[in-house]
Amino acid sequence: MKIILATQNRGKIRELQELLADENIEVLSLLDISNWEDVEENGETFADNAALKARAAVQKTGLIALADDSGLVVDALNGAPGVYSARYAGEPKDDERNNDKLLHQLESIPDDKRTARFRCALVIATPDGKEYLTEGTVEGLILRQRRGLDGFGYDPLFFVQDFARTMAELNVAQKNKLSHRAQAFRKAIPILQALKESQTLDT
Ligand code: IMP
Repeated sequence: MKIILATQNRGKIRELQELLADENIEVLSLLDISNWEDVEENGETFADNAALKARAAVQKTGLIALADDSGLVVDALNGAPGVYSARYAGEPKDDERNNDKLLHQLESIPDDKRTARFRCALVIATPDGKEYLTEGTVEGLILRQRRGLDGFGYDPLFFVQDFARTMAELNVAQKNKLSHRAQAFRKAIPILQALKESQTLDT
C-alpha cells in the first residue's frame, strides 16, 4: 500500500518511513508530487489544521493521506502560542525570535507556574472520506534560559522532568522515542494496518 504524508519536512518523512519499514507500506510525501499548493492553516486547533492538510493531500493524490500539526501550549499564556507556534514572533518564522518572545512573556511567571506541553495531532484521511485522529503530548517546563544545541523550535527552553534535560539536550533517538509527534505516529500504525487489510480484502 502507498500512502502520502503531507509534509516537505525530511525529518518527519524519515521518522514515518522508519516506523512503517516492516509493514509493507510505502510513504510518499509532498516532495514526490508536483504542483502542490500550500494549504492555509487557519484552523483553531492542531486537529483542524492537520485535517485541512490531510484532506488536500487525499484530494490531490487519491492516496490515503496523513498530515500532522503540532506546537507548544503554555498554561500561563492560556494555551499560547498554540496553533501560532511557528510564527509566534511574526513573519518570517524564526525560532530565535519565537524563543525570545516566549522568555519575555513569561518573565514574571514563577518557576512552578511555567508548565507547558508539546502537542501533536495527526489526521489520516482516506479516499472514501473517512478520517482518523491520533494525538501525542509531552509535558514540560519552560526554562529562563536556553539549554542544549540539538533539535529545533522551542526545544532549548523546554525542560522534560523525566529526563532532567531540555529537548535540545536529548539525542535524536531519545527525542524520537518520547516526542509528541512520535507518539501520534505510533498510534497511527494499527489504523494503517487495518486500512491495508481492508484494501487487500477489497481487491
Ligand atoms: P509543525 O507542526 O511541525 O509545523 O510545528 C509548528 C511549530 O511548533 C514549529 O515551527 C515549532 O515552533 C513548534 N514545534 C513543533 N514541534 C516541536 C518540537 O518537537 N520541538 C520544538 N518546537 C516544536
